[in-house]
Amino acid sequence: MSRLHGQCHCGAVRVAIEGVAAADLPLRACQCGFCRRHGAISTSHPDAQITFIGGRLHHYRFGHRKSDYMFCAECGCYVGATVIIDGERYAILNVTGVDLQGFDGRTPEPHVFDDETPEERAQRRKARWSPAELTELQPSV
Ligand SMILES: [Zn+2]
Repeated sequence: MSRLHGQCHCGAVRVAIEGVAAADLPLRACQCGFCRRHGAISTSHPDAQITFIGGRLHHYRFGHRKSDYMFCAECGCYVGATVIIDGERYAILNVTGVDLQGFDGRTPEPHVFDDETPEERAQRRKARWSPAELTELQPSV
């Protein structure tokens, strides 16, 4: 079983993507204002499972405000995004933000999604994003 691991800069947030080899995972350079500011390179595959474990995450929503863009609350790395569609969680990883290895020599494909309706966006994410699990440590009070 193919499994890639990554983590944020401080190591508080760990991620994995498994089930699809790195060579078969797409690399996307979304051209939205958020992703360009972060230099984000995203990956996901409907046949690959994504897991986020640990760390306090800061969640940020923008645009249609459907998905959570997540940052390690300690070191600020943008680690990926998740969305709930029809009760199921889907996600993408930010390959750059979690230092995911296995993509050397590949050029990410630019994508522009600005003209999608909310319904088109949900359908695209169901088709292309990965099924995902998010385990977020709650801050101790
Ligand atoms: Zn961190």
